[in-house]
Amino acid sequence: MPFVITDPCIGTKDTACVDVCPVDCIHPRKDEPEFEQATMLYIHPEECIDCGACVPACPVTAIYDSHDSTPGSQKDLIEANTIYRNGDADAMAQAEAIVHTHVSSHPELMGIDPKERQAAH
Ligand code: SF4
Ligand code: SF4
Repeated sequence: MPFVITDPCIGTKDTACVDVCPVDCIHPRKDEPEFEQATMLYIHPEECIDCGACVPACPVTAIYDSHDSTPGSQKDLIEANTIYRNGDADAMAQAEAIVHTHVSSHPELMGIDPKERQAAH
């Protein structure tokens, strides 16, 4: 079961997780053209090897270790992680559309500083 990035990444996006991932399955990286445009980062569900290295690296506790452990308020972002494919403009647009809907549907979460947001999940 792959790891999932959730909404504290929005407004943080520091790529600390990218730096520790041994299989380069978190995108977009800073050196990829999609980076500036992306609202958050995404974990490729088939490439993730469930090593867990990204979880303690994330300064805002945005990463959950499975679909099951992802809280109800964040379940929509499982699909965004699943759909996103670097270099595929359609897939990126679909994933970003899910994220934008998430942002507009959760003003109570998005109004919280990213460092405190996970505690409210
Ligand atoms: S669990 Fe491991 S392989 Fe999966 S995204 Fe995190 S660092 Fe990468
Ligand atoms: S370490 Fe956390 S906040 Fe930083 S890019 Fe990765 S998931 Fe986003």
